[in-house]
Amino acid sequence: MSLGNQQDIIIVGGGPVGLWTASQIKLLNPQLNILILEKHENYKRSHFAFLEANSFELMAEHPNLMDLKNRLQSDKKIKTSELEETLFELCNQLGVQIIKGFPVECGKEIEANFPGVQLIIGADGAHSTIRKTVCSGLLESEIFKYSNHFHTLMEVKYQAIGETKPMDMINIGYPLMKHIGVVVNEIIGKQNESGNSPITLQFFVNENIGESIKNATFKNPIQFHSMKETLPNQIRAIIEFWLAARFQYYAEKHVESSVTITSTKLGSYASRYYVRNFGTKAIYCLVGDAAFGMPFFRSLNNGLLCATILAQCVVKHFEGKDYQFAFSLEGVVNSLVGGTKQFLGLSNIPYEGEHISQPLIKYASYAMNLEESQLKIARAKSIGLKTFQTWTKISAIVPWQVNKLRPEQLEEVRTAIGIFSSEDDREMYDDIVEDGFVLVEKL
Ligand SMILES: Cc1cc2nc3c(=O)[nH]c(=O)nc-3n(C[C@H](O)[C@H](O)[C@H](O)COP(=O)(O)OP(=O)(O)OC[C@H]3O[C@@H](n4cnc5c(N)ncnc54)[C@H](O)[C@@H]3O)c2cc1C
Repeated sequence: MSLGNQQDIIIVGGGPVGLWTASQIKLLNPQLNILILEKHENYKRSHFAFLEANSFELMAEHPNLMDLKNRLQSDKKIKTSELEETLFELCNQLGVQIIKGFPVECGKEIEANFPGVQLIIGADGAHSTIRKTVCSGLLESEIFKYSNHFHTLMEVKYQAIGETKPMDMINIGYPLMKHIGVVVNEIIGKQNESGNSPITLQFFVNENIGESIKNATFKNPIQFHSMKETLPNQIRAIIEFWLAARFQYYAEKHVESSVTITSTKLGSYASRYYVRNFGTKAIYCLVGDAAFGMPFFRSLNNGLLCATILAQCVVKHFEGKDYQFAFSLEGVVNSLVGGTKQFLGLSNIPYEGEHISQPLIKYASYAMNLEESQLKIARAKSIGLKTFQTWTKISAIVPWQVNKLRPEQLEEVRTAIGIFSSEDDREMYDDIVEDGFVLVEKL
């Protein structure tokens, strides 16, 4: 199959980072021909992501992107699908060609089908196919520079009927966390056209709980109400207690069929190489989750930062010029620190091949240094979360604690559970959470 010879750049993956990269390149140089190959026909994901407006730093401006940036300044939450639709629309306006329903098997397939291509960008997510091509020749165990697992996150999503509020974490949330033995974070969305408010409850659970629902992925979540009987009791107890407290204190009702559960391992990983050339005409680059991933809601932010720099470097690469970092403290520091570390042999070299231009080397160094600094931040956050979990655990069992659920509060929540569940279930939940953290940890 030969689909043409017109593309200068092919981007594999039309997720947020692939679309962002394409639109940034086009805004800087409309002459470059870009084709995006996307595996899926339609965007299916709709989770919320927190996007910092400063992740748009140094971007090539466009009114649609400025609108997005301004909107994020007042509310950092954005649905992945909304971001993808906005960027997809922009790419169309700018003349980026997008083929959907095109799963790429490997990089060499692209070189064969598109003989004119000079740059292949892998923006195909955490399970990247292009990363395998970029790291080909390495042992399986060498493809990743590292791959760590920090925490397990169980997310419960549902539609609350009407408008709702975040929980008062000091007076209700924290005492409830001690009671159920799990640290919880809430994300409360705005009321939508159907009158419901999307809610995401993030439970930082232990590995055993995560393991028991490891097949509950975003593509294949567990339907809580219809699958309740098959779930481990402690998962049912944790969820029912939290939903009951939201009902009791905020009169929040939810659409029963909307409650779903997913499990995610929060970890970090980094590809051994970000830029590679095998002596052929095409140079490969990785960006977004294909390059590296960080926990605690930073990956998309990092992906956009890298994609902005990649776009600038790509344009310089095609112009045959060197790339100077525009003044951004992070960019300049990353470049200096990265160059020095590589010179001293303290860091691996994130590119390999003969025909890699200076701008693409600078991109690889920028990405590697962002990844290394973000890894340090992720480790610090992980220690913070573990300390909070331990502190909560200790304060759940010491006799002198003040901020625990008062007996009447506990009774109120138990009564609310009774509205959704049988008396047997309620007693079973009581047994499970009787001693808060201590018992849940033992189970
Ligand atoms: C529940 C959840 C919450 C998150 N919250 C945050 C947050 O708050 N803040 C934050 O910064 N990050 C967050 N993230 C991470 C963020 O969603 C990802 O970092 C981001 O989606 C990565 O974008 P990407 O374009 O690199 O990869 P992806 O979004 O994975 O997109 C990759 C695209 O490539 C396509 N593709 C894959 N393989 C192929 C192939 N072989 N051929 C063709 N196409 C292919 C896929 O279909 C997809 O469209 C969250 C992630 C999850 C799961």
